[in-house]
Amino acid sequence: MTDDFPVVLGICLDAEAIWLGINPDNARRPAHLSHGTFEIHEGLAPLLDLLDVHGIRSTFFVPGITAERYPDAVREIHRRGHELGSHGYSHRSPVGMTLVEERDELVRGIDIIHGLTGERPVTWRSPSWDWSEGTLDLLLAEGVAVSTNFHDRLGPYRHSRDGVALPLVELPVQWHLADAPYFIHGGRMERVVRTAAEVEQLWTEEFEGLYDWPGAFFHLTLHVQLICHPGRLRMLDRFLRFMKTHPRVVFMRSDRLAATVP
Ligand SMILES: [Zn+2]
Repeated sequence: MTDDFPVVLGICLDAEAIWLGINPDNARRPAHLSHGTFEIHEGLAPLLDLLDVHGIRSTFFVPGITAERYPDAVREIHRRGHELGSHGYSHRSPVGMTLVEERDELVRGIDIIHGLTGERPVTWRSPSWDWSEGTLDLLLAEGVAVSTNFHDRLGPYRHSRDGVALPLVELPVQWHLADAPYFIHGGRMERVVRTAAEVEQLWTEEFEGLYDWPGAFFHLTLHVQLICHPGRLRMLDRFLRFMKTHPRVVFMRSDRLAATVP
């Protein structure tokens, strides 16, 4: 056991898929979909450069439909040393799907990333952070080793069934440690847009609490189309520098952190 304090950045490269998943009719709304296209035209390159400057390797989640549309983006993320996690195929919640549909979404999403990077993704994030009743068995059957969807603990843990540990680690996530509640707007997401400074303060307060909490880690969920607008990207730069002033901080990819969980 070390006293390292793991920090994981879980970054969604959803592009248009997030808006198509909310409503397939958005396929006929090119201007609306362009909120997502921003990721490819403007957002991704400066974010990858910022992570390089900080020497941080993170986990990117890319839905299959986005990976098919922008294969060069997936290859570039992989080339820079980041983990590619699976994020389903069409960015729809598994809740309400049949088991056959849910399996198809999971397997297609994994296979497309595998085909582009040569590495089979082992980490999976549900597009809605939701599981269905059948999700656990599907993840185990498809060899998924890391889930980033539950909210029940402050540190990583291993899933179990009937008291028996399973080969699936959970890296819990929290709404307040994500960018979406503060920055997403439009479509059916009529939320009040917050300033970057407000969000920086909130993340700072929570980081300081977690840093002193036994067994905790810091898991930040970001979306390229939200965090990569220039003022927010500056805030992220400041926040990364702030975290790095804490001597026990170790930035880790999801797969690497999960591998340390007994
Ligand atoms: Zn997503």
